[in-house]
Amino acid sequence: MLAITPSARPATVPADLVVLNGRVLTVDAAFRVAEAVAIRDGVFVLVGTSAQARALVGPRTRVVDAAGQTVIPGLIDSHVHALGVAESEARGAFRDLRTIAEIQAWIREKTAAAPEGQWVFSPRVFPTRLAERRLPTRAELDDAAPRHPVVVDAAYAFMVNTAALQAAGIGPDTSSPRGGSIVRDAQGRPTGLLRNVGGLLDRYQAAGHPDRLLPALEDVHRRYNQVGITSVIERAADLAGYRAYAQLHEQGRQRVRATVTLRVDSDGTVEGTEAFIRSLPLRFGDGDDRLRVGPLKIFADGGILAGTAFMREPYGPAAASLYGVADPSYRGFLTISADKIRNIMRTGNRLGWQMCAHVTGDAGVDAVLDAFAAADADHSIRDRRFTLIHAYFPTPEVARRAAALGVAVDTQPAWYYKDADALLPALGEPRLRPFLGLAEWLRAGVKVVLNTDHMFGVDPDHSLNPYNPFLTLYVAITRRTQGGQVIGPEQAISREDALRMMTANAAWLSFEENRKGSIEVGKLGDLVVLSDDYLACPPERIKEIRALVTVLGGNVVYEAGGRR
Ligand SMILES: [Zn+2]
Repeated sequence: MLAITPSARPATVPADLVVLNGRVLTVDAAFRVAEAVAIRDGVFVLVGTSAQARALVGPRTRVVDAAGQTVIPGLIDSHVHALGVAESEARGAFRDLRTIAEIQAWIREKTAAAPEGQWVFSPRVFPTRLAERRLPTRAELDDAAPRHPVVVDAAYAFMVNTAALQAAGIGPDTSSPRGGSIVRDAQGRPTGLLRNVGGLLDRYQAAGHPDRLLPALEDVHRRYNQVGITSVIERAADLAGYRAYAQLHEQGRQRVRATVTLRVDSDGTVEGTEAFIRSLPLRFGDGDDRLRVGPLKIFADGGILAGTAFMREPYGPAAASLYGVADPSYRGFLTISADKIRNIMRTGNRLGWQMCAHVTGDAGVDAVLDAFAAADADHSIRDRRFTLIHAYFPTPEVARRAAALGVAVDTQPAWYYKDADALLPALGEPRLRPFLGLAEWLRAGVKVVLNTDHMFGVDPDHSLNPYNPFLTLYVAITRRTQGGQVIGPEQAISREDALRMMTANAAWLSFEENRKGSIEVGKLGDLVVLSDDYLACPPERIKEIRALVTVLGGNVVYEAGGRR
């Protein structure tokens, strides 16, 4: 007779990692709180009590004692430009310039080291974030750089000096390019302000450093891990950008899960758009849990910080100096026509892609929703998660319209934090109260994702834009600006809703709600142990919360004060 030894019983397979003694906010449908989790082969195998998790500890199990701290799902920043950050850092470290004098000093330093005639591009600045609350004038740039073409980059607007106008051949007779405008004085001479004409200046930019791109991208991702981010949506890449991610993935160097959004590069006709989409060697949704092909993106208008968002009402006289606007009827503009937006959305929909649009102003949102509705009339888009990006000025009627189309919103509390103090006097309180409109969207049943639009610099709190996710959550919850004002307190949302918008909703946006975004058995083992009690700490402390341990697929990728 054979004795049945304990080892012959079905053994409990030990976990690779367990977290014990935590306050685990699972962010599941019921927002359940647990005490412990266990991860094996990259996925959660237990969400329960510490006693249950201890039973899964074997000789090689990594044990993380959360010591009563809050544990949340790995954070998802669903709108970053990590590729752009990496490219720019590979050229030189980002400088946060805060006054016109600092811009001038930076220009003098750069031009002193550059041969005469060489173009100099500033780090990105926004007039809302400069102490003077305006861009420098052409004369101020000429003063700093009489002999070098200089471009001050404000994203959807550029201010250039006289040497740059001359070198680019922009004079009184130059007509504005499609989708942009060359701003002129009363005599018809270019003032140096160019709205939405980045393309005119691209060819003067120095070439990138492809060999430095991958290490720089890996470094940006490492910094994301340090603040608790385990997934990103890269929000406007070309094929080369996608390939950079694919290379990191192939080499096992990808430290965040990524969904890559591709920018539509077509003439806006149905035929041209179809040809562009068919030329892509990728299909929507291709990939795996590390790297996935995301939606197609267009840029419908500019930005509210640069006065190029397309608004229903004129910007108004109070906005004149912030944006360099002289025309009282000026309301910004679409960068591509409403017809083209419709062609692109209908074509993308027909060919099976999720579609999204950068669109900031309320009139721009009207045009994009019209295009979404036209696409919906061809084939329903209601489960396709088409997305408005920014859409900062919702009304109840717009929110209802978006909800009826199943349209999601991708939005950035940190912009409110950084810019609302400057936007308030320029645009007026009635327009600023619903800015972001998180409660408005929520009330209408629109799925919202909160993210940062990180585009330059690597400091979590001082980059442009700050990618500290706890700052984003703090602003959504408190609606406090950097200057301490609360504009439109009725748009504040709960801590639970805010966290959902950086986890579960973001996973949903990339059609991965069954894989990640919450701590549930069977989902990917991504989590963060926090330095403070997210649900109960005083509101002001939320933005000071730090990641203590970040886990990606069961591996510790960051430990505060640790070896990583
Ligand atoms: Zn962006």
